[in-house]
Amino acid sequence: MSEFDDLVRNITTCELCILSKSRTRAVPGEGSMTPSVMFIGEGPGYHEDQQGRPFVGAAGQFLSQLLASIGMSRGDIYITNMVKCRAPNNRDPLPGEIEACRLYLDKQIELLKPKIIVTLGRHSLARFFPRETISKARGKPRRWNGIIIYPMYHPAAALHQQSLRHVIEEDIKLLPRLLQEAENPPPKEEPGPHQLNMF
Ligand code: SF4
Repeated sequence: MSEFDDLVRNITTCELCILSKSRTRAVPGEGSMTPSVMFIGEGPGYHEDQQGRPFVGAAGQFLSQLLASIGMSRGDIYITNMVKCRAPNNRDPLPGEIEACRLYLDKQIELLKPKIIVTLGRHSLARFFPRETISKARGKPRRWNGIIIYPMYHPAAALHQQSLRHVIEEDIKLLPRLLQEAENPPPKEEPGPHQLNMF
């Protein structure tokens, strides 16, 4: 059994926080085992809790459409959440729950080694940049520990607020360029304006 399989098994049987009492199934995440891009949402909703899979409800369908619009699919990326178990009535995860679950997300990042992390929504953004607001940070890539962090609104936001749909559809369009930049970084000894284009 690989270290990642071990991690998934630990998540599915985890009882580190109170969400273990109300969940149907923990949702570790899914996708490529060699992803260039990792998407991190907030936490599982009703359908995700039932199926044990991330982003399978309406927000997940929108995410799949967004990926298709840039020629990608869910199999190209890895998708997970800040907390792996559904909070009752879809309330926001509490700070203690996020903290308890943090070791799993940290290990997923360590093992999968994504070049880009797309944070979906404010909780996910706060994991890397706790002082920033999503409305200001969205659409602006920045670096964290050698990884490009690209903040976006959560796809569910478009379901509640139609005006954000267009913003999200526009923000995803930068991802192919970020990916190209991440996979073909300019040589270190030749720093130049092109290196800083997007940061
Ligand atoms: S949310 Fe995370 S820490 Fe809490 S029980 Fe689920 S897997 Fe464990």
